[in-house]
Amino acid sequence: MAIIVNPKESGSACFALSGKNLLLKEGGKALSFHDLCELKAKFVEADFFDEPSFGVCAIDLGEGKDFPGGYELKTIRQYFAEHAEEDSFRLARARALLAWRRDWKFCGKCGSPLQDHAELTARECPHCGKVYFPRIEPCVIVLVNRGDKILLARHMQRNQDIYACIAGFMEVGESAEHAVRREIMEEVGITVKNIRYRGSQSWPFPDQLMLAFTAEYESGEIKLQKDELSDARWFDRENCPASPQPGSIAYKLIHNEI
Ligand SMILES: [Zn+2]
Repeated sequence: MAIIVNPKESGSACFALSGKNLLLKEGGKALSFHDLCELKAKFVEADFFDEPSFGVCAIDLGEGKDFPGGYELKTIRQYFAEHAEEDSFRLARARALLAWRRDWKFCGKCGSPLQDHAELTARECPHCGKVYFPRIEPCVIVLVNRGDKILLARHMQRNQDIYACIAGFMEVGESAEHAVRREIMEEVGITVKNIRYRGSQSWPFPDQLMLAFTAEYESGEIKLQKDELSDARWFDRENCPASPQPGSIAYKLIHNEI
């Protein structure tokens, strides 16, 4: 079923997003459809849609806005950390769809402006007929075990204050297991065996699908990819440094929850 732009009524879960933040009523309460309509009246250019088939109603307020009294901001990551996966799902979808609708406005084949598809959550080109679905970027994330130790790395560019699992985008043409071996070799120069799939998570910053694996150390010494990592070491699972927060699949891998 297609989305409804500028809905007049909705029974869906309601989200107002501002960049990487979620707008809540004071006290952390969820917004109502009435709240979204009030925000739309104030921010008339904001993208506002309802997707009844997924139960998601969302408005994109953009960043750096002054909001009316009675609202407060919470980071989306914090919301993920505090809520079960079932609750986080609709927010993840709202965030991913708003970002996709913002960034995918023209046909990559002929350059014409796209229109919302009449029957699907998709956009289509009125000129050449090509249909575009919301984008998903598959990534692999892997926890490498060596006896009782686990391998964690600190990145140069992102999340520099924590140690995390090895992760990276899949390349065209490769399997997820190939991507796991390649990323580990590129980033730390070791080989692994017994690669096991553990689970997945949508991570809408903006559109990653994280495929989580564990693997066992096979051979080699840690050799850092200097432009990516500032450090990588074997740690005791019970004595880890600061690592990703709850709500992320990295946390579940590190804490043996999947
Ligand atoms: Zn086209």
